[in-house]
Amino acid sequence: MGDYQLEEAATKIQEVKEKLGEDLLILAHHYQRDEIVAVADFRGDSLELSRRAADSDARWIVFCGVHFMAETAAILARPGQQVLIPREDAGCYLAHSVDRVQLLDAWERLSQVMHVERELLPVAYVNTTAEVKAFVGEKGGACCTSSSANQVLTWAFERSPRVFFLPDQYLGRNTASALGIPEEEIALWDPHHPPQDLSRFKRARLVLWRGACNVHVRFLPQDVARVRREQPGVLVVVHPECRPEVVALADEVGSTSYIIRTVKNSPPGTVWAVGTEQRLVARLAAENLDKLVFSLGDPPPYCSYMSLTRLSDLARVLAGLPSGEERGRVEVPAEVRAGARAALDRMWEAIRASG
Ligand code: SF4
Repeated sequence: MGDYQLEEAATKIQEVKEKLGEDLLILAHHYQRDEIVAVADFRGDSLELSRRAADSDARWIVFCGVHFMAETAAILARPGQQVLIPREDAGCYLAHSVDRVQLLDAWERLSQVMHVERELLPVAYVNTTAEVKAFVGEKGGACCTSSSANQVLTWAFERSPRVFFLPDQYLGRNTASALGIPEEEIALWDPHHPPQDLSRFKRARLVLWRGACNVHVRFLPQDVARVRREQPGVLVVVHPECRPEVVALADEVGSTSYIIRTVKNSPPGTVWAVGTEQRLVARLAAENLDKLVFSLGDPPPYCSYMSLTRLSDLARVLAGLPSGEERGRVEVPAEVRAGARAALDRMWEAIRASG
């Protein structure tokens, strides 16, 4: 979009915001374009935004992010609230790595070597569809975010001898290693090539789904070696969706909010190489001018799904609202919503229980 079109879309958005006042809440994920973040009421990571959505009294919650996030907001929304997404095709590579059919298949196959209903508790990263969350909720399991994975996994192991963590194998492995779960107690489930020999699963305490985020997976150990060579004294901070070999070499690991806090609270002059989505890294660099902040990746990786939402898409969705036209409505069927809500509620319970 040219500057004029951007300005025009921003003006239209501002007009609707003024007209609708508190009836409208615009949420933007940290990986969104700058012009979207600039017009949003709040920006945040998955956990912060789902909390904002749950606490809001707004009639319309417009979610600038990817589809599973808007679905989560719709699951948490109160009666009378409607969630809208400016780009319905904004998916997520990681969320697409698991669906309910594959999950049912895994559940059935694993039942050959363990009593799944009694022994295996599923934990789903929030980067999953509402249907997958519902499956997890129906089985007594919980959702987690990258900032609560540790607490939710601990909660799950207090209730079950085995946990099925999905779909991010690396978040699962990094959390397992922080909790001291040894490699021999972990087994990887590949939904595209279900194993014939299930003996490893029979012994496993933690079963991981073979999924990964195609942004965070791009950071490699050689990137850490390169930035350490090129910038002596550099500190490396990465997201836990990164490969364990990268996490092992980093100085800090944590969720998006943790990364932002860590960089912000570091002394002036600190040099940071950041292993996460580039829009967040660029914003961090711009907001911490007393430090040197740059991507761990070369080239820095962008999330193509997050990049889909443009100011014109947001303006188009907002334009219908004053006349009650709800473009980009996100609907979650009642039966799916109940199970998914249970899984999300158990996440808050696990976070509260950990103090
Ligand atoms: S960065 Fe990765 S996990 Fe996040 S929305 Fe994009 S593909 Fe999904």
